[in-house]
Amino acid sequence: MKALIIVDVQNDFLPGGSLEVSRGDEIIPIINHIQKDYNLVVATQDWHPENHKSFASQHPDKLPFEQIDLDGLAQILWPDHCIQGSYGAEFADELNTDRIEAIFRKGMEERIDSYSGFFDNGKRKDTGLSGYLKARGVTEVHVCGLAADFCVYFTALDALTEGFKTSIISKATKAIDKGAFIEKKNNFIQNGGLLT
Ligand SMILES: [Zn+2]
Repeated sequence: MKALIIVDVQNDFLPGGSLEVSRGDEIIPIINHIQKDYNLVVATQDWHPENHKSFASQHPDKLPFEQIDLDGLAQILWPDHCIQGSYGAEFADELNTDRIEAIFRKGMEERIDSYSGFFDNGKRKDTGLSGYLKARGVTEVHVCGLAADFCVYFTALDALTEGFKTSIISKATKAIDKGAFIEKKNNFIQNGGLLT
């Protein structure tokens, strides 16, 4: 059985949002259209407290996109984004959510960032997504959404590690940094992932 994982199609990642992915809005009609091809559709949602330590604003001498060490892990600092309950954290208005059976939220703990929908960046916590998919009989997952080079990539990589046949749907994702995505895409393929 095949599931679609829609990653972080939230206002802050869309044009006009605080961490916008260029032309990110263009993938929404595609995601709406392909949902009917899946037995199961789930979504992830970046969902940070306002003092989340992945925000550059929490580190007085730092700027967005600088890197720090956070509890032993390399952490890129981002503009404030996807704050719990804010408009920026909501799914895009244009996204059809009727078929989304479950939403897995991530990045809720102040000092733990999570790009993947399965585990946080240090693999200290499991969101339960893998167990949920397996309990539903899913063996294959297709990943789409934002951003290709971060949350989509890390979700897809963890899906492989969890034993799912995994594809990234190229036409239904956009990268923050296209060059970085090419490199990550190659790593994903080398690990057994597929690009469709
Ligand atoms: Zn985030």
